[in-house]
Amino acid sequence: MYFLNLEKQYQSIKKEIDTAIKKILDSSNFIGGNEVGSFEKEVAKFCGSKYAISLNSGTDALFLALKALGIRSGDEVITTPFTFFATAEAIANTGAKPVFADIKSDTFNISSELVEGLITPRTKAILPVHLFGQVADMESIMKIANKHKIKVIEDAAQSFGAEYKKKKAGAIGDIGCFSFFPSKNLGAYGDGGMAVTNDQKIAATINLLKNHGSSSYDKYKNLVLGTNSRLDTIQAAILRVKLKYINKWNKARIKIAQYYNKHLQGVIGITTPNVDNNIFHQYTIRLHSEQVRNGLREYLQKAKIPTMIYYALPLHLQPAFKYFGNKVGDFPEAEKAAREVLSLPIYPELKRLEMDYIVRNVKNFYERY
Ligand SMILES: *Cc1c(COP(=O)(O)O)cnc(C)c1O
Repeated sequence: MYFLNLEKQYQSIKKEIDTAIKKILDSSNFIGGNEVGSFEKEVAKFCGSKYAISLNSGTDALFLALKALGIRSGDEVITTPFTFFATAEAIANTGAKPVFADIKSDTFNISSELVEGLITPRTKAILPVHLFGQVADMESIMKIANKHKIKVIEDAAQSFGAEYKKKKAGAIGDIGCFSFFPSKNLGAYGDGGMAVTNDQKIAATINLLKNHGSSSYDKYKNLVLGTNSRLDTIQAAILRVKLKYINKWNKARIKIAQYYNKHLQGVIGITTPNVDNNIFHQYTIRLHSEQVRNGLREYLQKAKIPTMIYYALPLHLQPAFKYFGNKVGDFPEAEKAAREVLSLPIYPELKRLEMDYIVRNVKNFYERY
């Protein structure tokens, strides 16, 4: 059994993918071009955003989104400590300080109630993450941001296609950032990312920054310091094929999650994930202690069921962020989640038989426990 099986998905669309890749090889235009432009238009349309700027990773999408808002040393950006490292890394790489707000225990997402109290004159933006495919409490976050005239950047790396009150994840705040890392719901065959926005100036700035600060009109005139953060043409061609299937794949993930929930909800000691506005990038259950979580993980491992712990170490305790002076106990909900979470296999091609086997083994563990 696999935690994630990308090969199955490739086999299901092999012809289309191979044709798309061959087209690029035959043309031998590997940077920019029609495929990239078309993919941007298609993602903008999909998200209901005016502009989509393709990038080489979700990390650079976050970094350039922050740069495009002018965020720099001395500034503060409020975000969650319970996420992948890149979220706060992007903030710190601008020179700004990631200011953490603890999470809600039922969604693992940033607790909007805690955000307003952290706003200072230095706060330039709020950066919520839609963790595991579930959209954060955007209504409250937008209200707070508008009241204090600060910006909102959505880290939608794990939630491509998720919806919240009729809007797409990433298209609610000022800028939305996606990752097309292979394991994401919409995954490339290498690195990739995208930023979406309705703001023409922001879009133009990200376009400039991602290309060494040079405009497409005069390639060798560099207006500002930027990066090389372009999306490869081959990846754009692959993603254009896969974009057609994303709604179907997300629906399949939701169905698997519902099936797991139905069978695990009644098991005492297990908290099943909240399904609101969720496309289940991960299916993450909560156990009542670290010891039980680790015990279950070992038990499943023996039954050849792979599981993952997202995330074992909250960002405020990461060695790289030691210089901010955070300590154990600062964000108790994030720390508790780190001890209690366990992600089970979920991907669109997962079979009913495999799901039954997983559910049965989880239940067996509890009966013996
Ligand atoms: C994957 C991910 C990123 C980084 O994306 P890359 O494309 O790998 O750079 C950022 N934030 C979150 C929450 C992610 O899951």
